[in-house]
Amino acid sequence: MRYYESPPAGRPPKSTSIGVTKSMKSNKSSGTKPELILAKLLRKRIRKNNLPGNPDFVYPRKKIAVFVHGCFWHRCPKCNFDLPKRNRDFWARKFARNAERDNLVKKEMGAMGWRVIEVWEHELREDPTKVAASIHQMYEVRDTSVSLLTGH
Ligand SMILES: [Zn+2]
Repeated sequence: MRYYESPPAGRPPKSTSIGVTKSMKSNKSSGTKPELILAKLLRKRIRKNNLPGNPDFVYPRKKIAVFVHGCFWHRCPKCNFDLPKRNRDFWARKFARNAERDNLVKKEMGAMGWRVIEVWEHELREDPTKVAASIHQMYEVRDTSVSLLTGH
């Protein structure tokens, strides 16, 4: 199952739009941060794993996987970032692929009996304690596939 690890076809065209560069940069610098906040709260390390989509945190015995999604790259419906003005087609395709891959990962994980928790970057910025508490709560309950917090 390596499909999700393969780099996107084609590189992003160089953007001259300040807005885009800014949101990409801030996304990049914040790309690891939310996960680290959560790692601290959950007292877990981010480890490489061989699960579909390489979830940020896993509870193997409970078969719970946590994905932290960057709002820009995963097209968070709440933050609703504008599509970059330049190279719209490129970005539209890229984001569509991301969404497709996210769905595929969820399906694969579900088929393997894992519960998937998706956490948005902004949720971690707003209320990391609440996110951690919800994850701990998930740990206690036995539902099948649940999409936490985001309702999507
Ligand atoms: Zn968001």
